[in-house]
Amino acid sequence: MEDKKEIKIAVYPGSFDPVTKGHLDILERASSMFDKVIIAVLKNNSKKSYMPTTDRVELIKQSIADIKGLNNVEVDSFDGLTIDYARKVGAKFLIRGLRAVSDFEYEMQLSQTNQAIAPEIGTVFLITKPKYNFISSGIVKELSFLGQDVSKFVPKSVVEYLEKKK
Ligand code: ADP
Repeated sequence: MEDKKEIKIAVYPGSFDPVTKGHLDILERASSMFDKVIIAVLKNNSKKSYMPTTDRVELIKQSIADIKGLNNVEVDSFDGLTIDYARKVGAKFLIRGLRAVSDFEYEMQLSQTNQAIAPEIGTVFLITKPKYNFISSGIVKELSFLGQDVSKFVPKSVVEYLEKKK
């Protein structure tokens, strides 16, 4: 009988409000490690989002269209628990990016909570490149509202979106 190898699917969950070059760097690296990566926008979480989910999804789609080699990446959105979504799509891995030590404590707690309720799903942490270390969606929005050019930090589609929103 033919040996069927299970395809390795990872979910990269987040608010992506909006997506930044830091997120895209993590996504590119995850895409080279897994057979399929689903970047999944969380619809409702405790953070109040600035942009509607559909816009956040659309901006990710536009930004990855310009990046070569991301053919194994899908963009989606979800509600509720990340592990329930991961189970639904058959993913055994979650991707999270780490910037500073300050991210670590929260991420460890989140990952261990997920481990406790879904032991079959593991979290893979990727450390951001130093040049993206300080970039957060929050800082980008603030800089943009204050008239600063944010094209170094976010993809072109996001720059244009934020310009229009002003
Ligand atoms: P959440 O609200 O779930 O923290 P975010 O959209 O802020 O969602 O971030 C999603 C993931 O991307 C998190 O794992 C976060 O640590 C990571 N991340 C955010 N900004 C960067 C960055 N500049 N470089 C690398 N990873 C990042």
